[in-house]
This record gives sequence, structure tokens and C-alpha cells, in this order.
Amino acid sequence: MKMSTLYAPTLKEAPGDAEVVSHKLLVRAGMIRKLTSGIYTILPLGLRAVNKVAAIVREEMNRAGAQEILMPMVQPGDLWRESGRWEHYGKELLRFEDRHGRDYCLGPTHEEVVTDLIRGEVRSYRQLPLNLYQVQGKFRDEIRPRFGLMRCREFIMKDAYSFDADEAGAEASYRAMYDAYTAIFTRLGLRFRAVDADSGSIGGSFSHEFMVLADTGEDTIAVCQACDYAANLEKAGVRGKFDPSPEEGPRLTEVPTPGAHTVEEVAALLDVNPTQIIKTLLYDADGQPVAALVRGDRELNEIKLKNALGCAELRLASPEQVREWTGAPVGFAGPVGLGVARILADQELRTAMDYVVGANKADAHFRHLCLGRDVQAKIDYRDLRTITAKDPCPCCGGPLALPRGIEVGHVFKLGTKYSEALGARFLDEAGKEQTIIMGCYGIGVTRVVAACIEQNHDAAGIVFPPPVAPFEAVVLCLDPKDEAVLARTEEVADALRAAGADVLLDDRDERPGVKFKDADLIGFPLQCVVGGKGLARGIVECKDRRSGEKTELPLEGFAREAALWRKGVWCGWGLGAGDGVEECR
Ligand code: ATP
Ligand code: MG
Repeated sequence: MKMSTLYAPTLKEAPGDAEVVSHKLLVRAGMIRKLTSGIYTILPLGLRAVNKVAAIVREEMNRAGAQEILMPMVQPGDLWRESGRWEHYGKELLRFEDRHGRDYCLGPTHEEVVTDLIRGEVRSYRQLPLNLYQVQGKFRDEIRPRFGLMRCREFIMKDAYSFDADEAGAEASYRAMYDAYTAIFTRLGLRFRAVDADSGSIGGSFSHEFMVLADTGEDTIAVCQACDYAANLEKAGVRGKFDPSPEEGPRLTEVPTPGAHTVEEVAALLDVNPTQIIKTLLYDADGQPVAALVRGDRELNEIKLKNALGCAELRLASPEQVREWTGAPVGFAGPVGLGVARILADQELRTAMDYVVGANKADAHFRHLCLGRDVQAKIDYRDLRTITAKDPCPCCGGPLALPRGIEVGHVFKLGTKYSEALGARFLDEAGKEQTIIMGCYGIGVTRVVAACIEQNHDAAGIVFPPPVAPFEAVVLCLDPKDEAVLARTEEVADALRAAGADVLLDDRDERPGVKFKDADLIGFPLQCVVGGKGLARGIVECKDRRSGEKTELPLEGFAREAALWRKGVWCGWGLGAGDGVEECR
């Protein structure tokens, strides 16, 4: 491929709406262009990177025994009614009517469609297990599309669905996908962690998110420095011993706290530490009022609360509900005499006493609260707060780190949620009717490219790992008007191709400085320069984009030298050139 004819409109400046580096660089490197909010056209260079990711994804999925299909993007509303998600999915589901007034939606995911596909056709245990996948455009009407390819409304996902006859089979399918994902992200040259994620009502360790580690990630994960524990913050359990507190101490006393609504305001007014305050958060759990108590300096974890309650929907109470349930405006709720359906408290509140809490009265709080003594209602003590870097590892007690990550993949055991709702059943060996057990497995193919850039870039631009780069190598011709120089450039490009790289030839009639800048901006891992003084000396100057290291390779015997050099660059990434990832590890 020649750069003179390539549609790769590079820019000096990033667009004003680009906040994160991958968004800025994808636009500047001429890889994507915005059509409208959260919706992008992917240009030739961007598409090559996307396709490279997709190719590795396909290879590993096929290797794991999954079969590729292609399902429609437009899905009938009636099917979503059968699963119950037409009502529950929320506004991310873009719904519309056809000319006959029938409901449709754009697929944000395909559990309904794939379950419809197999129900009725897969009837015998002999047809199981089965794993079907696709690489396809998804649409989610995200409330805040942002960060370019990171959180779009339209994006490309690889989604796979497994179908098994029994639990053991479902677990084996899950494991196979977990292993395939590990192979995929390793081959892509990304630094990642598979973290234990919340699996909601399924329980157990059957949901893992694959996180690309990057400071700009939207997610925080808990990683142990001593053992191999890694979990999503939502899932990470807080470890500790929490004995009930003694019930002696100063008596509960009401104090005026005019205008002090927040923990900070109350702490300042009463001159107490936030650790001596209890926050009382009110929620609407499936229509029932519930209160959740955590220490003033802690963060309530809504996923933990939802799991502890076992409810389907959890919403923070509205100001009207707060007034109705407590008789006070927001900011003064407390557990004393509170008439709600359930009160849950974080486990650590069991151990101490002498707290400040809201008095369920405008502009008033209580001091010296002891939960066991002063609250008549039953309190459920649970792990409700989000873990912090100061907490010990829930697995081994070792020190924790909380790095940021970008979720690029998710493996999830679904159980019988969809097969039950849609009636996907089969006859087992004994001729008895059983419900198929399912799993679903997604990779955000376009997000992988963005995450890869978030993790790998410098001041000059993108630093693509070789397996993701739109072209692994660029050969810059310093004097494209000179036939002889151009011929040498072609030879160098051919030699790199023979070594296994795909090569872009920069034959543009541009100043060398422009070409160097573009090569670094787009982030080709291997860069070779042909022309000028080097050529006169019979050498080609080659640069490893990642290390910046320059190597002079002789034109004489270039093919052999180039192959070795290329291998060295891959090894720098911890990858083996070609397919043998183990080679360099
Ligand atoms: P998130 O928590 O980031 O919204 P999700 O949990 O909704 O993601 P899944 O339903 O598990 O995502 O989808 C599978 C994969 O699709 C995700 O791991 C992610 O890589 C990708 N993905 C999800 N939403 C988007 C989006 N809006 N833009 C780009 N990729 C996305
Ligand atoms: Mg997810």
C-alpha cells in the first residue's frame, strides 16, 4: 500500500470535544471521524487496526470451538417482551416502529435473538454443547457517549453465546472462553488483568471482566500485591473482624445542626471526625423503602447493597420520598425511630459507638448514638462499602493496589435466565425435558483499539503494539521523485513483507519532517528510512517506535537483518514475531 493514495487525513490539532488521548490521537491520525454524538466513521487506517483485532479474536474463538454467525441488528420488540427486557432495559435500548406500527429495537446485545435461533431447533442433548458468536455493530443509546471509540453509541462487539446441557458443561464453556480471552489480549500485546466481577443473582466466580490497565480507565480495580487476587471494586469484599460494641456510653442527645446536610458540614459544625458520623442513605428497592448505613468517610457500594437486598431494582430515594419516610428534608435521615421496611448497616458499624446521625427532623442530628442500644428496629449488618487501598486483600490479607482499567471484555454465566423465559429446552439422555444453560461473552472490538492507545502512546502519538498496528511497518522514501531511490524503497518494503510485516510505503511528495511526524503520530511499530546520506552509505535507518532505538541495517543482506530486527522489536513487546507468543517470554 502506498501512502500517496491512502485516505489518511492527519491533523495537527485534536478536535475540541476530545477529552482522552485515544480520542484525540484517533482523530489526529486520520483513523476516525465523528458523524454525530457517539457515532463514528472508521477510516482506512482505523479499520485496519479494528480488523486486526477482530482477526485475532476470530482465530481464538474458532480455536475454542465457537462458530461464527451473523445476526440482524434490528430486533422485534415482541422478542424482548418475552424475556421481560422490553420494559426493563431502559433508555439505552433504541426503540422504534416500522410502517405497520410494530415495535422494533436496535440490538444492544443478542441474548434474545440467539436464544430464539436455537429454541425449537436444538432439541436433543446430542446437539449440545454449542457456542455461537458474531462480530457485529451494536447500538446503545448511551446517556453520555464520550471518549471517542471508548464509549460510543454505535460500536463493534464480538459477542458469543454458549449453550450447555448441564452445570459441568456450562462451567467448561465458561473456562474455555476465559482462556480464549486471555490468549486474545496476550496476543494483542496488551497489559491486562482478568478481574472477578459481580455476577448478580448467579453467584460464584462466574463473571470476569478483562481490564486493560491504563490510568485513564473509567473503572478502578482491586489488585493484591501479594497473591493473584484481582476484582472489580463492586465485587471486592472487605475483610475484618467486627464484634458487637459495648452498649455503655453517653446518652443519645439531640443537637441543632441548622443547614448542615452533608457529612462535611455536620463534621465541621459539631467538630467531629467524619469517621464518627453515620450516613443514612435511603433507597427505593422494588418499591419498598430501605435505609443503608455507612460511616461518614466511606462510600456505599450500591451493587453490594442490591445483592444484599436481593432486589431487582434499586433507586436512590427522591427528595419527596425522603420527606415522606423521615418527615425531614434530605440530609437529616437517621436510623432512630425510622419506619422503613429494612435497615442495613455496613459490618464495621457493629463494632463502635458514639456516632452522630440524622434525627429525622429538619436541622437536627443526634450525638452519642450506639446502634445496638438506640435503634429498636432490626439491623442487618453486611459488607456494604467500597473497598479502599488501605484495606487488606480479602483473599490473603496482603496489601492492595487500586489501579485504573478499561473494560474490554466480559465473560458471564447466564444460567437459564433467557432459555427459561424463551423456552429453550432439550431432551436429556433419559428423555427428560431440561432447560439449556447459557453463557455470554463480549469483547468491545472498537474499544480495544481505543484502550490499546490509552495504554500505549507518547507525546509524538500512538505507539501501537505490532499485532494491532494498521501497518506493522512504514518505509519512508526521502526522495520519491528519484526512480532509483523509489526502487530501493520498494526492495526494503518487500524484504519487510517477506519477514512477515505488512508494510505501508510513504511515497508522498512531502518534506521528510512531515513524514517522520506522521509515522510517529500513526504509531507504526517499525519505521525504516530510505534515501539521503544513509542510502549513499548503503544503509537503511530503522527505528523501533516504542523504544525509539535506531538501528542502521545494511542494504546488502537487508532481508536477513530486517527479519532479526523485527523479531527484536516484537520481543520488546513481550511478543514472539509471528504467532509464537511464547518465543520471547
Ligand atoms: P460498560 O460497563 O463499559 O458500559 P457493559 O458492561 O455495558 O460496559 P457489556 O454489556 O459487558 O458492556 O459489553 C461487552 C463489551 O462491549 C464491553 O466489555 C465493552 O468492551 C464493550 N462496550 C460496551 N459498551 C460499549 C460502548 N458504549 N462503546 C464501546 N464499547 C462498548
Ligand atoms: Mg460488563
